[in-house]
Amino acid sequence: MIRQTKVKTPRRPAPKKPSNTQKDPVGVYCRVRPLGAEDEECCIEVISNTTIQLHAPDGLKANRNGEYKETQYSFKKVFGIKTTQRELFEDVAKPLVEDLTHCKNGLLFTYGVTGSGKTHTMTGSPGQGGLLPRSLDMIFNSIGPYQAKRFVFKPDDKNGMEVQTQVDALLDRQKRDSQTNVPKTPSRRILDPEFADMISPEEAYKADGVDEDSSYSVFVSYIEIYNNYIYDLLEETPFDPIKPKWNVAGIPLRHNTEFIQPQSKILREDQNHNMYVAGCTEVEVKSTEEAFEVFWRGQKKRRIANTQLNRESSRSHSVFIIKLAQAPLDADGDNVLQDKNQVNVSQLCLVDLAGSERTSRTRAEGSRLREAGNINQSLMTLRTCIEVLRENQMCGMNKMVPYRDSKVTHLFKNYFDGEGKVRMVVCVNPKADDYEETLLVMRFAEMTQEVEVARPVDRPICGFAAGRRQKNQAFKEELTHRLEERGGPVDGESQTVLSQLLQSFTPLPPCEISGPNDDVTLPKLIEALEKRHKIRQMMIGEYNKTANMLKSILQEQDSNVLSKDNFIQEQRGKLGEKDKMIQNQKNEIDRLEKKSKMLEYKIEILQKTTNIYEEDKRSLRHELESREQRLQREVSDKRRMEARMQGIVTDAKLKWEKECERRVNAKQLEMQNKLWVKDEKLKQLKAIVTEGKTENRQPHRPSREKDKDPPKRSASPSPVPTGPPVRPLHRRSHSAGGERWVDHKPTTNVDLDTVMQPNIPNAIKVTAPSEKALSKCDKYVLTHQEVASDGEIQTKLIKGEVFKTRGGGQSVQFTDIETLKQESPISASRKRRSAETGPAQEGEPMEGDWTDVETRCSVAVEMRTGSNLGPGYQHHGYPKRKKP
Ligand code: ADP
Ligand code: MG
Repeated sequence: MIRQTKVKTPRRPAPKKPSNTQKDPVGVYCRVRPLGAEDEECCIEVISNTTIQLHAPDGLKANRNGEYKETQYSFKKVFGIKTTQRELFEDVAKPLVEDLTHCKNGLLFTYGVTGSGKTHTMTGSPGQGGLLPRSLDMIFNSIGPYQAKRFVFKPDDKNGMEVQTQVDALLDRQKRDSQTNVPKTPSRRILDPEFADMISPEEAYKADGVDEDSSYSVFVSYIEIYNNYIYDLLEETPFDPIKPKWNVAGIPLRHNTEFIQPQSKILREDQNHNMYVAGCTEVEVKSTEEAFEVFWRGQKKRRIANTQLNRESSRSHSVFIIKLAQAPLDADGDNVLQDKNQVNVSQLCLVDLAGSERTSRTRAEGSRLREAGNINQSLMTLRTCIEVLRENQMCGMNKMVPYRDSKVTHLFKNYFDGEGKVRMVVCVNPKADDYEETLLVMRFAEMTQEVEVARPVDRPICGFAAGRRQKNQAFKEELTHRLEERGGPVDGESQTVLSQLLQSFTPLPPCEISGPNDDVTLPKLIEALEKRHKIRQMMIGEYNKTANMLKSILQEQDSNVLSKDNFIQEQRGKLGEKDKMIQNQKNEIDRLEKKSKMLEYKIEILQKTTNIYEEDKRSLRHELESREQRLQREVSDKRRMEARMQGIVTDAKLKWEKECERRVNAKQLEMQNKLWVKDEKLKQLKAIVTEGKTENRQPHRPSREKDKDPPKRSASPSPVPTGPPVRPLHRRSHSAGGERWVDHKPTTNVDLDTVMQPNIPNAIKVTAPSEKALSKCDKYVLTHQEVASDGEIQTKLIKGEVFKTRGGGQSVQFTDIETLKQESPISASRKRRSAETGPAQEGEPMEGDWTDVETRCSVAVEMRTGSNLGPGYQHHGYPKRKKP
């Protein structure tokens, strides 16, 4: 409410903060217009009277991650296609008009894409009047009988309102009458829709509780905001084809026919920090018809300016401001109180916003594009302001709201900062083409509902008794009535009582004395007078009695009134306490509501966070699963590989075993050959030694090769018998029947205490071979001990046959070597199998031993009779040579 500033008010008071804590959210309503053509694709469905659902048109679904997009939006109320203008008015604008008559401000705007029905909703058309004509109608229906005479209220140029004296007002009226004597042209009447065309009389509304002790006056302004410039649509300009024959401001008109670009207006802040359009025309209107006519004048001017300047009306915001001035009547209830401080001005702004579509849709170019940009800019600013307001309110922040960034938001700053009721009708066209823009509109609307505006408070107007106008009226009526009855002004009441009284007395006897003897007249007169005196005395007594009685009654009444007063006072006190309590509780409720909002906000954030975490969890689990799968795959791969490797190893092993066997065989053969060569040499040696005796004898082959054909031998052992050399097996220590053995055991031998000792019956045991013993026997065995490569003692039985030499001596030809080996279980790692057969079958390390023995065998030569050497071999393996 714009209140008049008191004289004492400082020039620039601190910004007005709403004194009350009551807040209401911005009321957002949604109106869905019918489709233009029935075969058009529809993207909106009204689900309930508070909710609509948006369906993405088919072409768009793919763009949104292939999802089928359906979104719901809720509003204070949703009006479907069948809603009448009257129903809409009743829900949306009627409460605002009621507030207006109770000194409260209101703001109502229509928002939506071009063609969505904003203008239809706000202005309407003949037969279907919109919110604006209906609001005007309701205002005049309500204040009709209480309107002040024209020019009693007069706007100053600082957004304030003055009360003129009766005389000044009368003079202004006379001036106006002299300017408007020319009647309206009939053509205008035909062209303009009359108010009567818009609303039928049976649809009239009236506000309740209009203060009958006040006087009212309505002022209207009509502005257009285009490209962030403000134009006054009611301003009298020199070139004005729809110019009325009178000038509201009383300025003489210049007669100039050339077109003059309208001057833009600026915004100012008044002393109460309310924003207003400086120098804007405010037309006082006394009826709906007149107000509507002024509106149409503005409309026409707008249309003509748009045509002249090649502008599109859908890109401008139009603001129709209805100001209601209200001042109390004086104590007599006769005239408007001449006190500027008692004037209240409230206003209702009806705003038809520009189309909310994006620049691209307007297909604008060049300067048009710049304009479109600005239009969107102002709607963007509106959006930003709403966003910041909402954020501030929800999170208890104090961010600056950028009202000043555009004229629209700057003008309505006070509705959001101060107090008032704000309502918005979101208009939507359900056609699918508008889907994306409608989506943006819905989002904005949803956000707007969360903004709260301070509720306007009730303010008492003045301290005079109520019902002054009525009493004054009644008194005046009564007065005229009586004047008519009695033909003149008389003190009626007292006159009647007096005459009645006088009539009740008996008339006085005649007072004329006839003569000196007349003694009848005087006594009669005296008697009559005395009678009258008595009556008088009685009357005085009665009067006094009555007066006293009345006095006591009055006193009683007084004391009654006093006690009632006290009681009332008491009750008032209690009421005050209750009020305080209620206020406290309301505050508490507010606080809790805010808190719950805050918590809801937090919950929302937490929910979002949870969603994110769940998403993370899902993706991690997915990853884990895929890794596990990979691992399993790798394990099975590994198993397969192992199996393959094993196969390869087995193959290789087999191959190498075969190869080893082959090599061993080759080596064995080679060794055999070597052995054979040595045998051969030995034989040759023997032959040389026994040349006389054995001249005719065939050379002897080693016994182990007796069964074979003697191969042709050469130095290079190439003739190869494929298999290993076959050796006859010897039964250890088994002496052939009849054979005699020389059992030669050197003294150096260690007693091994083992069962594997050769035990030959009938043998001649010697520690050193002697010819004597040899001559008696035909077999010879040497028990030879040596340390094997593994550190164990190894016993070899070297056997041979005794021959008689030509010189009469004895010779031994070795035929067999039997190896006996002791093994310690501890040194299992270097275990060597006890070999019954020749050492040639052992691996390479045995070669040395084998060679040793062979060497010794080969040295075992004949012993002549009488030779000192004895059987000619020593133990090469022994470090010390011991003489037998
Ligand atoms: P805007 O002002 O949003 O650009 P208009 O109010 O000019 O849109 O509406 C465009 C057209 O649609 C007009 O011809 C109007 O009569 C029609 N229209 C809009 N809303 C309705 C409605 N609720 N019922 C019937 N016709 C409508
Ligand atoms: Mg429009």
